[in-house]
Amino acid sequence: LPPPGAEVLEAPDVETMLPAPGRESDKYRRGVLGVLAGSDRYPGAAALATSAAVVSGAGMVRYAGPASVAAEVRARRPEVVAASDVDSSGRVQAWAVGSGLGPGRDQEVAQVLDTGLPLLLDADALASLPARLDGPALLTPHAGELGRMLGADPADVEAHRLRYAREAAARWRATVLLKGSTTVVADPDGRVRVNPTGTSALATAGSGDVLAGLAGSLLAAGLDPFDAGSAAAYVHGVAGRLAAAEYGYPGASDVLDRLPAAFRSVSRG
Ligand code: AMP
Ligand code: MG
Repeated sequence: LPPPGAEVLEAPDVETMLPAPGRESDKYRRGVLGVLAGSDRYPGAAALATSAAVVSGAGMVRYAGPASVAAEVRARRPEVVAASDVDSSGRVQAWAVGSGLGPGRDQEVAQVLDTGLPLLLDADALASLPARLDGPALLTPHAGELGRMLGADPADVEAHRLRYAREAAARWRATVLLKGSTTVVADPDGRVRVNPTGTSALATAGSGDVLAGLAGSLLAAGLDPFDAGSAAAYVHGVAGRLAAAEYGYPGASDVLDRLPAAFRSVSRG
């Protein structure tokens, strides 16, 4: 039973949220996602996030980050277009920021915050949030990150997930997707959705980076942050279950490889 005021996501709800490119669509109308992620220390986060974004609805994915990381991104997905920096990333319609970024990247994060475009903020980007966010935003913390954002004990966040997700959503006027064994998505107006598709197969390194690319892609495709977060959590869980049915213990790349099948299964109801 869902907690009071919360709604449990179902496949038909998610299907209606997903982008449906029309016959007249082109890559720009489908949406361009900019990804600011990864570092020399964590290049894999950028590879996972951009690769997930490529198959999650956006018409184009642009990568802004160190050249060495960009090379790894392109080696896995040649269709990702490199951007020399945030400001010269033309025609980007939404940004996914933070996965594997590491410390010391505040200036680039600030440039993205200044764009006013829809943003997905994950991991290190959550450590330096301004007091208030102006544009549409989707924050994707796990309990540890949300605890740090709010100055709360992560164990207390874990014990009262709904309350803390709502509190952060109200405070930053943003959608907050609190990751974990049961992912909850809270919007600034107090609405909450609970994702039923989660599986412990997702509790693995890189899993959050896949979610960030997936949700960012949906933002670029035009979904509002609440729907983008909801649909992303649902599809991510389905992909995790598909991977777990084939492998005992799938890695994040195996989950990523099942995103297309997960989208298809949701679209079929
Ligand atoms: P991160 O911690 O950023 O790598 O993100 C982990 C991802 O795995 C998130 O999407 C979580 O919701 C998901 N996840 C982690 N642990 C579990 C679990 N026990 N059951 C279901 N999903 C989980
Ligand atoms: Mg993470």
